[in-house]
Amino acid sequence: MRAARFYAPKEPLRIEEVEAQPPGDGDVQVAVEACGICGTDLHVAIEGTIQLPRTPIVLGHEAAGVVAAVGSGVTRWKAGNRVTIFPNVACGRCSACRRGREVLCLQAQVLGINREGAFAESVTLPASCLLPLPAEVSFPVGAIVADAVSTAYRAIAHRGALRAGESVAVFGCGGLGVHGIKLAKLLGAGEIIGVDVARGALRRAAEAGATHVVDASGGDAAKQIRGLTASEGVDLAVEFVGLKASVTEAMRSLRRGGRLVIAGVGGDRVELPPLRSFVGGELAVLASMGFDREEVETVIRWVAEGTLDLSSSVTDVIPLDAINEGFRRAFTKEGDPIRIVVRPGG
Ligand SMILES: [Zn+2]
Ligand SMILES: [Zn+2]
Repeated sequence: MRAARFYAPKEPLRIEEVEAQPPGDGDVQVAVEACGICGTDLHVAIEGTIQLPRTPIVLGHEAAGVVAAVGSGVTRWKAGNRVTIFPNVACGRCSACRRGREVLCLQAQVLGINREGAFAESVTLPASCLLPLPAEVSFPVGAIVADAVSTAYRAIAHRGALRAGESVAVFGCGGLGVHGIKLAKLLGAGEIIGVDVARGALRRAAEAGATHVVDASGGDAAKQIRGLTASEGVDLAVEFVGLKASVTEAMRSLRRGGRLVIAGVGGDRVELPPLRSFVGGELAVLASMGFDREEVETVIRWVAEGTLDLSSSVTDVIPLDAINEGFRRAFTKEGDPIRIVVRPGG
């Protein structure tokens, strides 16, 4: 089968013929219909800021497809089933897994990071990684729900515990933030403020349902947010950028008693405000990492029911041969893509 393999940062992926892995005991082989290009892929392949334990490896971790073959002992799935792939194979044995917090498993194998990924005609993985994909949900949307959308859902709904009527500021209106805005609206948020430095991102934020947008390029986002909220600030700020400046402004944009959820990842060191305002205002700072299976299932259900419209989230579907061009455009944001999805089958 054909697959896009990563050898080293800043080098193009190589489209190569590789051996498809037959499904072992408890495994399922999935013919990949769609696999999204994620920021993590760009950190790996273009920036080199995430190092992989071994190379070459097939990248790609947000995928959907059709069951092609099942290994022995698999009863729940059969050839032809439409599926979304849950990309993390947790160990099930460590203390995090035993506490039900699989996202914190240190031994987890992640598709396209430390096990062969889905920018390939097929991928083989444990049956427990599959989630049913209803016929109402297209493969490209079925691919991006497991990551771009579910990560935002966890940050806003679970870690952020957004309640109806609350005000929320979303810092970073790229693939995660735009979905964060849509989900905040769906969850009944009052004011929804989209914050970004790029004009295209702010336009998309407004289209996604932001009641206000704030151009953060002047470095005064918090001040502008206070101006929009009768000087009070917001109940919840969610940060999807992963930079010190953005986290700092997000913290400053909170009202007394407000909560900040940081979902952006990076190497920056961030500071708390002076304790008299942090403690005096009883602020909360939380991190949000990834998503769990139930969160993906919830998002799929909402899309299938028509409650959550993701039809504009996939900006391009490209063949495997165009993957390097897709990575380049996802990185430079040329044409303002939300998600570019690869269709490995051609
Ligand atoms: Zn990802
Ligand atoms: Zn574990």
